[in-house]
Amino acid sequence: MPSERQETAGVWYDYSTGGQDGTDPRLQPDNSVRFEGQLQQMEQILDTPMIFDTHCHYDDSAFDEDREKVLAAFREHGIGWATDNASDRQSIDKVLALAEQYPFLFCAAGIHPSELDGIDETWMEAVSAALDHDKTVALGEIGLDYHYDDGPDRETQKYWFRRQMEMALAKDMPVVIHSRDAAEDTLEAVSAYASMGLRGVIHCFSYSREIAEAYVGMGFFIGVGGVVTYKNGRKLKETVASIPMENIVIETDCPYLSPEPFRGRRNTSLNLPYVVKAVAGIRGISEEDTVRITCGNALRLYPKAAAYILR
Ligand SMILES: [Zn+2]
Repeated sequence: MPSERQETAGVWYDYSTGGQDGTDPRLQPDNSVRFEGQLQQMEQILDTPMIFDTHCHYDDSAFDEDREKVLAAFREHGIGWATDNASDRQSIDKVLALAEQYPFLFCAAGIHPSELDGIDETWMEAVSAALDHDKTVALGEIGLDYHYDDGPDRETQKYWFRRQMEMALAKDMPVVIHSRDAAEDTLEAVSAYASMGLRGVIHCFSYSREIAEAYVGMGFFIGVGGVVTYKNGRKLKETVASIPMENIVIETDCPYLSPEPFRGRRNTSLNLPYVVKAVAGIRGISEEDTVRITCGNALRLYPKAAAYILR
């Protein structure tokens, strides 16, 4: 319910059903718990903090040759969990299948703004059904992409973006937002739904510090990936330096956007320690603290994942 969600925003576990029928009392929402307290609680529950890749695409054919090998190497590289994002109608089934196969993989279901060709309400029924799955933790990725002239027209993009945000509100799910060369229209659309209680992440954030601060003010998380390691990633570095640490989540967007020194090659979650190192350097904190804080943030972003991991 949107209003309840709004009231409990900022609580790392915000399910209104938590604590009922004999569930772990530590999972009960408590507005009085401050951020530090939440982290201590998280530390007790998670033995060793691990990196949570909040946005990836292991359903992509770029992983057809060695998907299993990459995923099997997660633990030894300090990667604990990942959320695989669907982008089109077919990939919804693929991300669900992967999430069912691997206990540490979650998924998000939604239709990307560049993949709207042929979309109708039956696609929304598929998204809705996928959201009911135990391991679907968000609606995404959705948004606006004005980068390509031959992409879906702007009005069509805006219609399905709003349609999916409405569904997220109705289903009390966070959203994963993709926005490219569409800063103003995205902010305007998201603001309207955020005021009704919508929450989520602006993934692979590429706009200014000021826009990031506007989203943070609405309770949104900012997704930071490989770009933060690039020489020309100045804008993102400024954003990482200025927004509250508790609003930053780590992501790959793999197979895209490899961090330095692997820029240009296929990306995997195994490269995330380089992103962590860059964020830690900008914030002047240890890499361990960066992992611990962003891991807690990811679990607040995706409460269903937290419930699944901590059950
Ligand atoms: Zn993506």
